[in-house]
Amino acid sequence: MEKKVRVRFAPSPTGGLHLGGVRTALFNYLFAKQHGGTFVLRVEDTDQTRFVAGAEEYIVSCLEWCGMSPDESPQKEGAFGPYRQSERKASYKQYADQLIADGYAYYAFDTPEELDAKRKEFPNFLYGQSTRMQMRNSLTLPADEVEALLEKRTPFVVRIKMPENEQVSFIDLIRGHVSFDTNLVDDKVLLKADGMPTYHLAVVADDKAMEISHIFRGEEWLPSAPIHILLWRYLGWEDEMPQWVHLPLILKPDGNGKLSKRDGDRLGFPVYAQNWTDPKTGDLTAGFKELGFMPEAFVNLLAMLGWNDGTDQEIFTMDELIEKFSVERISKAGAKFDFEKAKWYNHEWIKHAEAKKIAPVIKNELLKSGLASVEDLYLDKVIDLVKDRCHLLTDFITQSRYFFVSPETYDLAAVKPKWTVEKGAFFEAFMAVLKDGLSAVELEEEFKALTVTHNLKPGELMLPFRIMLVGGKFGPGVFDIAVLLGASETADRIRKALLAFN
Ligand code: GLU
Repeated sequence: MEKKVRVRFAPSPTGGLHLGGVRTALFNYLFAKQHGGTFVLRVEDTDQTRFVAGAEEYIVSCLEWCGMSPDESPQKEGAFGPYRQSERKASYKQYADQLIADGYAYYAFDTPEELDAKRKEFPNFLYGQSTRMQMRNSLTLPADEVEALLEKRTPFVVRIKMPENEQVSFIDLIRGHVSFDTNLVDDKVLLKADGMPTYHLAVVADDKAMEISHIFRGEEWLPSAPIHILLWRYLGWEDEMPQWVHLPLILKPDGNGKLSKRDGDRLGFPVYAQNWTDPKTGDLTAGFKELGFMPEAFVNLLAMLGWNDGTDQEIFTMDELIEKFSVERISKAGAKFDFEKAKWYNHEWIKHAEAKKIAPVIKNELLKSGLASVEDLYLDKVIDLVKDRCHLLTDFITQSRYFFVSPETYDLAAVKPKWTVEKGAFFEAFMAVLKDGLSAVELEEEFKALTVTHNLKPGELMLPFRIMLVGGKFGPGVFDIAVLLGASETADRIRKALLAFN
């Protein structure tokens, strides 16, 4: 029988969530939903030294923002909990014991000082095949001494005993046949002195316990795969081993290496999904959300980093992604991150968004920027008029502020040099023509008719009119702006501006 699809996103709560992490979550999510499977969030917090308070809540909130809430998680217990590894601590030791009993692992009693001394002596020191017999462990010490050390509760770690001269081979659904030489892999620690498992033991034990069917994770974990595969084998679970899918790296814009948080800081774009404040230093790292990305656009652009559906289509909703996603179309090669392209996606999503959908975020931004109140129906109309001009939701602050407050300053340089008494007279007359209920086209016709009687050209008057209403040389069609502002507000703005222009 086909195994039921159960996938997991397994972040360590060590800080902000990198967009590569979100893409891993996304591919897990898409695969689960496509197959009617289960998307699990498992928090891998066995490394207490790297644990950061608030990181788990932050990760949960990022997933929620992206619209991919887990089916099972620490917040939503299912049948396979607990979903935090620290809370599963008691379950791991039995596997370390089993591996030792079967000769696949051993106790190592070397103290941190002894290991440091070795590393000083041999800068490339690796605890493994060529060195393990010179160390203090259950392979080198007599059995009774090992017993005595254990009885005295001498601190120890458990290490995997990497076999000699073996090829560990497996199928990666993206890369095909992959093979590792065991001579090149060291004897990784499985259980630490504090009784906590390391990532390697915990990940295998939990993927088994949680009946995970497919492991989608970043390519950076590929070198760990041989250790995990050997553990699946040594623990006697090989028949139940999940399928492996190592996702291509997300690269720096120039393609030189993995995209890091530091690249974002250096090049001026976010790398985290949402704002992250380091609880120790108080340092704030910007996120896509707060910069003004729509979650739909963020998900869309992430999906396209290393995947396409084989056509030219670039804009996908989550539902379309769920339908069209396929592992076969994930590329092996790393995907370069291009922030301009990311903004292009967001622009596309904003342009086509229903005003009502994005209005709450924009309203919030406008209120934060100092507007006293924002009326909902009016805001919807404003959004429809200016959304073509916004790449980020935060662009709405400048692009729509003048709909709510009359300009505080004018781009006089654009008007003054060519200003004439005749133009002033035209606008005085135009104020009398204004009335509510006209469409933008009708208002434009009135405007043009009046230019004829004033012996002026519409082209000379449009820019001053815009500056009167907006303050600067930007915005949608000036007659659309005037109609939305209404006759009385438009007249007020003309009157006020004339004082500054004349
Ligand atoms: N805890 C690992 C991480 O932080 C998970 C790697 C895996 O999916 O196996 O990414």
